[in-house]
Amino acid sequence: MLQGRLAPAEALTGLRGGSDFFGTTTRAERRGDYFVLNGQKRFAVGSEGADLFFVYARTDPHAPPRNSISAFLIERAEGVSVEHVYGLLDTRGGGTGRLRFRDVRVPVGNVLGGQAGIGRGGDVFDQMMIAERLASACAAVGLGRAALEVAARYAARRKACGQEIRRFEAVSLMIADGLTQVDAARALNREACRATAANVSPGRVRGMASEAKKFASDAAWEVVDLAMQVLGGIGYTNVFPVERLLRDVRLIRIANGANEIMNLFIQHEFYKEFLAAAQPVGRDAEADAINAFQPEEKVFE
Ligand SMILES: Cc1cc2nc3c(=O)[nH]c(=O)nc-3n(C[C@H](O)[C@H](O)[C@H](O)COP(=O)(O)OP(=O)(O)OC[C@H]3O[C@@H](n4cnc5c(N)ncnc54)[C@H](O)[C@@H]3O)c2cc1C
Repeated sequence: MLQGRLAPAEALTGLRGGSDFFGTTTRAERRGDYFVLNGQKRFAVGSEGADLFFVYARTDPHAPPRNSISAFLIERAEGVSVEHVYGLLDTRGGGTGRLRFRDVRVPVGNVLGGQAGIGRGGDVFDQMMIAERLASACAAVGLGRAALEVAARYAARRKACGQEIRRFEAVSLMIADGLTQVDAARALNREACRATAANVSPGRVRGMASEAKKFASDAAWEVVDLAMQVLGGIGYTNVFPVERLLRDVRLIRIANGANEIMNLFIQHEFYKEFLAAAQPVGRDAEADAINAFQPEEKVFE
């Protein structure tokens, strides 16, 4: 695979929803030194031509969700079929398909981590998602910046009512807003990458990668939209690449976990760390209120 001779596809999303990773209905039953895998996955990029599939399947239906799933490497062989290739808004080169696995025999050695990896699919998923979400966040910044550069150059040359349109406040404010969004997203991405590289707590890394993915993709969507507005009608055509960037960037708000799911992670990881601290870390801002020490006024139930 590293030599580029074998193409892989990652099949995580089940028919019951990408948001419900632990609800996967793809099953792998142990039979001695191999598993028999049955189920379906969809939206797997590259599945049309892939030689290898990276698949999560339920190996223990009775275990708690976190220990119920394992990650498998599955070769394209009998029982593996691509049932449908989706027509997409964009990113069409990948051959994004729905996969079906029918009684596919998979050696135990193809579980990531081998015997020790059985039931550890949740850990693999957590690791994978950090890299994928950071990569998505960085791609979003790149797309946003590219659209903004096209728009800025256009605004500096295009004339309306006798002057370059960048001289109109309405247009220059769009460029300013776009730049601020892109740079803020870039800064958050950098912080999230730093936290990941420094290996701070896993929860903090998960939360920050989710923040970065959500913020950067929402920001980039807004920025590309602004860029299209600056270009006016020609921005909607394929004379300029902004219409394609708009289609490209839209996916990032959905894929690798929809942004609503990022919000679930963000607040979950925050509360876990924040409420675990017996005392406020650093200054207790609540104590700054004039009547802070009136316990009878602080009614919570
Ligand atoms: C072009 C493309 C490429 C993709 N590539 C891959 C790939 O290579 N491999 C792969 O495995 N998957 C891939 N995906 C799948 C992608 O990751 C999923 O589409 C995504 O995770 C959302 O899952 P879903 O489509 O099943 O939507 P659902 O999970 O059904 O969600 C639908 C909506 O409900 C919301 N929602 C669901 N649950 C909750 C909740 N608990 N709280 C709040 N809101 C909720 C979601 O945020 C979303 O807005 C790809 C998708 C596309 C479109």
